[in-house]
Parts: sequence; C-alpha cells; structure tokens
Amino acid sequence: MNKSIGKCPFCSDGEIIYSKILVSGKQTNVYTCSNASWYSEDGEMFELSKNATCSFRIWGNSLQKWGKRSITPKEVKSLLQGKDVKIKLYSFKTKKEYYKYICLDKEYGISVIWETNI
Ligand SMILES: [Zn+2]
Repeated sequence: MNKSIGKCPFCSDGEIIYSKILVSGKQTNVYTCSNASWYSEDGEMFELSKNATCSFRIWGNSLQKWGKRSITPKEVKSLLQGKDVKIKLYSFKTKKEYYKYICLDKEYGISVIWETNI
C-alpha cells in the first residue's frame, strides 16, 4: 500500500509516497519523497540510502511526545497543497492543550509554529 499524495516541495520531480512501516515494533505512517529511500537494520534507526537525491520525509510519529499519535495523510496532503493545518497538541509537563499550526520542514519533515496562538 504505497500511495502518492502530492508533489515533493523540496526537489523538482519527487512525489510524496504514503506508506506504513514498523518503527520499534509499532505501525507508523511515513511520508517519503520518491527520490529518497530509507532503510533500517534494526527497525529503529533509519538511514538514507546512498543513491537518494532528496532527503525529505515525515515520520508520522514525530509529534508523539506532544500527545499527537500520528500525522494523518489528510494533514500531509493539505500541507503539500500549501494549506494551513491546525493540530491539537498536549503538553505532558503543563497538562495543557495547545492548538497550533504545523508546516513542512526540509530537515525535520514537520515543524510546529509555536509563536502563533490560535
Ligand atoms: Zn523530494
């Protein structure tokens, strides 16, 4: 089940492919540029293969520590179309909920725009 959900914003001809992989034994959504390929020997640490020309990817669990279990294909699709995407985050420290916008980040896949209060 690998499905293209949009064009890669960081290279000229890549498509973003949605798939599910096991990360530390858990099914995780992952969105990778078709010009990137990731591999893992232990299912925990993922490395970019040598022939990759783009490194863009979003790990679906990257906001897990903020109480967001998974980044959905719908959210990624909207980001790729340049739309604002609002998400709910939860801080385990302050026990508060936050509503924030997220954006695409070349290095981290997704980043949260903390400065903006919604
Ligand atoms: Zn790309």
